[in-house]
Amino acid sequence: MPQSIMQDIIPKIALNTPFISILKDRLYQHKEVEVAMLRLDEIHPVISGNKLFKLYYFLKEAKDATHKKIITFGGAYSNHLAATAFACNKCDIQSIGFVRGERSKVLSHTLSFCIENGMQLEFLSRSSYQNINDSNFLQTLKKKYGEHILIPEGGFSKKGAKGAELITQYFKDTYYSHICLATGTATTFAGIINSAENEYEIIGFCILKSNNDTEDRLNKLQANTSGKYSINNDYHFGGYAKKTNDLIAFINAFYDQHKIPLDFVYTGKMMFGVNDLIQKNYFLTGSKILCIHTGGLQGNNSLPKGILNF
Ligand SMILES: *Cc1c(COP(=O)(O)O)cnc(C)c1O
Repeated sequence: MPQSIMQDIIPKIALNTPFISILKDRLYQHKEVEVAMLRLDEIHPVISGNKLFKLYYFLKEAKDATHKKIITFGGAYSNHLAATAFACNKCDIQSIGFVRGERSKVLSHTLSFCIENGMQLEFLSRSSYQNINDSNFLQTLKKKYGEHILIPEGGFSKKGAKGAELITQYFKDTYYSHICLATGTATTFAGIINSAENEYEIIGFCILKSNNDTEDRLNKLQANTSGKYSINNDYHFGGYAKKTNDLIAFINAFYDQHKIPLDFVYTGKMMFGVNDLIQKNYFLTGSKILCIHTGGLQGNNSLPKGILNF
């Protein structure tokens, strides 16, 4: 089972096995569809969701390496940075995180968390950050930090996608007509479409405004795009980490009804989209929809207190 694989990689913390929650709603009943949610958020209160899976092969490599050092990249609210810091801390791997933008006086909750977990933070101006994939920059990293394992921003890599393939294990034995998930870098989406064995349609809800580059990303990851999948660009709510009152109200109502917390950057947008598409009869009667809760709840800490009712 993948759970024990995950557990082997981080023996120091107890991980829960994710489970599937069946969601009950008058809308679903009325439209005669079934909606379930794979609760990757339940794996661990701090490190949960898709990030752990994307890190899997990098952590494995670092643990086996003589140079136990990981360098990665992200913004001030990056779930990826937080997950990397935490996992490295628990695996006795040194971690260095390059942050997009100048250091602000008050660090975000995410960055403070990274520091608490022993991550060395380096701040890059937005213009320098644009060059993080250039060979010159990578050379300087080697000179400055020595041998290390590099994880691209957001884990965007074939290795990250391969880790995300492990997620499919949790639902492949049950029939679903649709699998829905939020996509940013599309690494997780690539992992899911690569490992899909069944005839379901996989829908990626893109939470970035820069439409149309998801296909490009899938190509870069050399994902297997022969299966049934689609990318929905209609529910980004203005772009990455942008929100509206409607979105926040939806997340609160969803929590009241299902007691499942969603985050406003990813899973809130995906579930809003799923419900809206159900309302608009996108899904045929009898559809069995599985939504993947990809975790990321620490992102909600950037909201003012009291906005969310959980
Ligand atoms: C990072 C993240 C995603 C997006 O994953 P990608 O692999 O970058 O597409 C989705 N949901 C949550 C909660 C995340 O933190």
